Amino acid sequence: MSKATVLVSGASVAGPALAYWLHAYGFEVTVVERSPGLRPGGHAIDFTGEVHMTVLERMGVLADIERRQTGKTDWVMVDENGARRGLIPGDFIGGDVEILRGDLAEVLYGRTAGECEYLFGDTVTALTDTEHGVHVEFENAPARTFDLVIGCDGIHSRVRKLAFGAEKEFVQHEGYYYALAGGSHWENEPHWQRERARSLGCNAPGRLAMTGGSKASQFYLFASPELDYARDDLDAQRRIVAEKFAGMGWRVPSMLAELPDLDGFYLDAIAKVSMKNFVKGRVALVGDSAYGHTLAGFGTGLAVVGAYVLAGELALADGDHTVAFARYEQIMKRYIRKADDASPGRFLAPRTSLGVRLRNWFLGTRGFTLMVKYGDSAKNDIDLKNYPEIIAAQ
Ligand SMILES: Cc1cc2nc3c(=O)[nH]c(=O)nc-3n(C[C@H](O)[C@H](O)[C@H](O)COP(=O)(O)OP(=O)(O)OC[C@H]3O[C@@H](n4cnc5c(N)ncnc54)[C@H](O)[C@@H]3O)c2cc1C
Repeated sequence: MSKATVLVSGASVAGPALAYWLHAYGFEVTVVERSPGLRPGGHAIDFTGEVHMTVLERMGVLADIERRQTGKTDWVMVDENGARRGLIPGDFIGGDVEILRGDLAEVLYGRTAGECEYLFGDTVTALTDTEHGVHVEFENAPARTFDLVIGCDGIHSRVRKLAFGAEKEFVQHEGYYYALAGGSHWENEPHWQRERARSLGCNAPGRLAMTGGSKASQFYLFASPELDYARDDLDAQRRIVAEKFAGMGWRVPSMLAELPDLDGFYLDAIAKVSMKNFVKGRVALVGDSAYGHTLAGFGTGLAVVGAYVLAGELALADGDHTVAFARYEQIMKRYIRKADDASPGRFLAPRTSLGVRLRNWFLGTRGFTLMVKYGDSAKNDIDLKNYPEIIAAQ
């Protein structure tokens, strides 16, 4: 019997993780990625808790990730005169193991590149779900039919748009935007030199400017209603940041002066994906495309666990996607409940001076410690099956 074929859209975290497991269970996998190649560097992302570690260990990538980890970066919050006002500990920001997103993608890609087909610099343009498969049209590659199509293409997912509906139906703007520029301060450091360092962040009402961060060398977050801008016009987007941060003290004027010369600029809304269903017919979504929530906790862990569960359920159901998709959705809906609670924009950039003072005070209290613990417990709140063992025993 020929192997079931699966098209995975997106080669960042969820995509290669899913490709790894599907190939391990005997599926034939093609991954399509819009970028011309793997994107190096990027911001630091993290994994925390037993569940994340178990999945990484079962994939055989934990040691590789630990070797490339960045260390953890405390965020020191200062006022506009540079006086220290609070601290967000690196353990909260960086979890148990923190790594640059590009380094993680490279590790995951390395595990699958030999066995799975990768189509870089391409994207899906049309999907027709039929009884016998999904007919897929690409921008560049010839059209093909796959047994299943899985969208791992992030918060602005093309697969979600084609199979489930317009982005505005599922992605809620949370009243804040973030912008990154320059690589993480770890990016140019050899891995063995990535020692504990500090990022500095300064708030004005509704604004946060950070420098020297593990996320990027410059990181901005600001309150704003939805903005109308061209996604490919980076100069216009840099001007938006300059306007929003005009008049702010501290190091902001020199940061803004450097901004045009920094590469890796990226602006996006803080947004949350809410979907009643993230499986439909022969199409499913994994990671940020299905349950992304910018900066709110454990998106990377969700992506890796979601990939593990979906592939495991497909193998357990012997490829019967109707059974497997329903189980995957049920398991992940339960797991993502607590990931939905946070409001990262309001926490990181309160809208009033009083709000900023209260937030800084809160950082030093037991309430903050409890909040961190609650977040950590959510990351383990799943009854994780040992799919590889169960499947090997079948
Ligand atoms: C500034 C910032 C900091 C973060 N910090 C953390 C953190 O500390 N901890 C944490 O757990 N999470 C963090 N996250 C969230 C984390 O980055 C995501 O949850 C995680 O990357 C989700 O992985 P994904 O594979 O689902 O999607 P993404 O990483 O968004 O990847 C989507 C992939 O799909 C590709 N793609 C997009 N459109 C198409 C298309 N049309 N066709 C083909 N390919 C396409 C993209 O190029 C990309 O490679 C952070 C996010 C941001 C923005």
